[in-house]
Amino acid sequence: RICRIYRFMGAKFEVLIAGGKGTLDYAQVQDFLNQKMLEASQKPLSTSFGQFYLGLQMSCAIFPEHGYSAAMLLKNSAAALNEAQKNNMETVYAFNHEIAYKEQNWFKIENDLRQANYDEELFLVYQPKIDLATDSLSGMEALIRWQHPERGFISPAEFIPVAEESGMLIAIGEWILQKAIMQAKAWVSMGKKDIQVAVNVSPSQLLSVGFVEKVLVLLNDSELQPKHLEIEVTEEVMVEDVDKCIGVLEKIKESGISIAIDDFGTGYSSLSYLNKLPFSKLKIDRAFVTDIHCNENNYEIVRTIIALSKSLGMAVIAEGIETQDELVVLKNLGCSQGQGYLFSKPLTSRDFERHYL
Ligand code: C2E
Ligand code: MG
Ligand code: MG
Repeated sequence: RICRIYRFMGAKFEVLIAGGKGTLDYAQVQDFLNQKMLEASQKPLSTSFGQFYLGLQMSCAIFPEHGYSAAMLLKNSAAALNEAQKNNMETVYAFNHEIAYKEQNWFKIENDLRQANYDEELFLVYQPKIDLATDSLSGMEALIRWQHPERGFISPAEFIPVAEESGMLIAIGEWILQKAIMQAKAWVSMGKKDIQVAVNVSPSQLLSVGFVEKVLVLLNDSELQPKHLEIEVTEEVMVEDVDKCIGVLEKIKESGISIAIDDFGTGYSSLSYLNKLPFSKLKIDRAFVTDIHCNENNYEIVRTIIALSKSLGMAVIAEGIETQDELVVLKNLGCSQGQGYLFSKPLTSRDFERHYL
């Protein structure tokens, strides 16, 4: 059997296993690769800085099930590797038809998004945030919607990752910020003097060149005071370049814009960054809020997050509140803000005005 290793790029390698008559036994190949992977991850790598253990992911595509040409096999094993990396798989991941479907869909979304006219197909909806001490409106979160001309509504959960990976989210994100800032300015002028509009900002956008300067220009152009803007980032940004991240976040804070950590508790969750970074608010992920009145684990997690936010001098908001029972518990725990279907689903600007202005 021929087995050759090629360096593809960076820390990516390709292994070609060929030989024998007919096709190789699928399970055998996977077993063989799993064994190799295990061996590699158990052996420490010695360097002048000390010993390291390698984390690695491996995928495979097999002739002829997964492709008749070398190019097709490479493309499909790369797609499988992508999945393996996303799921942090510790075993060899074989290409399959679900991946093929995801890939196709991904490229279609990417292609269509490239051609989309933002002003015609994209729009923002706003979900109210409620001050739980006074039951009054404290602000709103801007959430993107894509009304595709043929395919209808496409969820942000589906197209935001595509936009992020293809680099398009920088331009889309700027469009979102501009719309949200203009909208907030209009609502402040209409009398909602204390509201704050929250905008979700992805890691690539946050760390893109000149991000803070662009935000400041947008605020300046619309004459919206920075205190009316909040930026929501997920813990994921901390996985990127922490020092760069701290620098950007500090600049944002210095300009008077507040920063919330979205989906708190689901991501990186290293508590050590919490007091190093200038966050003003923790946003408790919906997963922990669900059934908090009868799920003891969730109750304990939320109680701890609220206590943590208090001791760090941060505000705290619970997202995804759907029932009165959940709300009562959150109020008793001293949660300062809430957001969720119980109060309202995200609304178009018009509906938002009808209900809240
Ligand atoms: P997120 O920022 O954590 O937003 C909360 C999501 O939960 C929203 O989904 C919202 O509609 C939904 N939600 C709110 N209350 C409830 C509730 O009571 N029950 C349930 N089941 N769901 C609730 P949406 O709008 O589909 O957005 C999903 C995610 O997509 C967002 O999560 C955010 O990560 C991303 N996203 C949305 N808009 C933008 C955007 O403008 N920019 C960026 N970068 N990401 C965005
Ligand atoms: Mg959010
Ligand atoms: Mg969230």
